[in-house]
Amino acid sequence: MNVFDTVIVGGGPAGYTAALYCARAGLSAAVLETLYAGGQMAATNRIENYPGFDEVDGFSLAQRMKEGAERAGAVSYNTEVLELHLTETPKRIVTSSGEFSAHTVILATGAQPRRLGDAREAEFTGRGLGYCATCDGMFYRGKTVVVAGGGNSAVEEALFLSRICQTVYVVHRRDALRADRAGIRALEQAENVHILYERRVAELLGEETLSGVTLENTRTGERETLACDGLFVAIGREPNTALFAGQVALDKAGYVDADETTRTNLPGVFAAGDVRKKPLRQIVTAAADGAVAAKFAEEFLNSET
Ligand SMILES: Cc1cc2nc3c(=O)[nH]c(=O)nc-3n(C[C@H](O)[C@H](O)[C@H](O)COP(=O)(O)OP(=O)(O)OC[C@H]3O[C@@H](n4cnc5c(N)ncnc54)[C@H](O)[C@@H]3O)c2cc1C
Repeated sequence: MNVFDTVIVGGGPAGYTAALYCARAGLSAAVLETLYAGGQMAATNRIENYPGFDEVDGFSLAQRMKEGAERAGAVSYNTEVLELHLTETPKRIVTSSGEFSAHTVILATGAQPRRLGDAREAEFTGRGLGYCATCDGMFYRGKTVVVAGGGNSAVEEALFLSRICQTVYVVHRRDALRADRAGIRALEQAENVHILYERRVAELLGEETLSGVTLENTRTGERETLACDGLFVAIGREPNTALFAGQVALDKAGYVDADETTRTNLPGVFAAGDVRKKPLRQIVTAAADGAVAAKFAEEFLNSET
């Protein structure tokens, strides 16, 4: 069986940037992706914060990243990784279409925002409902938005939106926010932010695009309608780590415990992009991680020979 220098699990911006840098360094590199190139990015219609582009759709950017990596010599397989044996030599990767072997593995399986669980959530996603204010907040300039959540990310999203939007409602199911004091203080001082405690988003309203939400009081069960142009769901993220949890060390929130070098606790195993613990999960930081992971994979391979 062909043993790759590097197998990259996940074909999002982190995975394809890692592949590009690995291939340009002369390493044999394979990207294993279960769906389509681009991951979360490919499902994003308008990206306005990727350097060098006024605006680009995520699908086209993903195709460019994939083509660039393949031009450099990386290969892609459309297959689901089912098992990883990361302590074996070489490392063994079991997929839905056979086995792969590699001297190093770059984990780039990404993360996904936790969903509200509403029956119409998918229908409104990108049509008034979003999961990332840094990404989509600009579309709501001067408008009214709701942020669902009460932790640090909800507070950060709300503060970001308060500088763009006319009115921001923060809807939190408890009677106090669960975020850093400094963030809470800043939010309370923002004149256009209204915090609605002990409420949860019970229903999404609208025809083709979201036009409001029904809120339910978590103590009394009483319901009320709140008109809005946008809803940002900020109730946490879930990293895609089930595949290697138990082998690779994770932090308390379930992200791979790897620092800026992308090295994990296992020799020759690296973690890049949203799956890694980090302060900002964006395309540009995922791509940066991919480049760094390739550098350290190359360094590891050199040290082994
Ligand atoms: C709605 C939305 C809008 C966004 N908008 C922006 C924006 O405007 N600007 C910005 O910078 N960022 C934006 N982001 C964030 C950005 O998309 C992510 O930070 C980035 O895509 C992370 O890249 P990644 O490669 O780490 O992971 P992902 O993009 O999550 O890619 C991971 C890939 O791994 C694959 N995978 C997982 N498990 C397996 C397996 N077992 N076998 C094979 N493949 C597997 C997945 O299918 C996926 O394709 C947005 C995110 C969302 C959800």
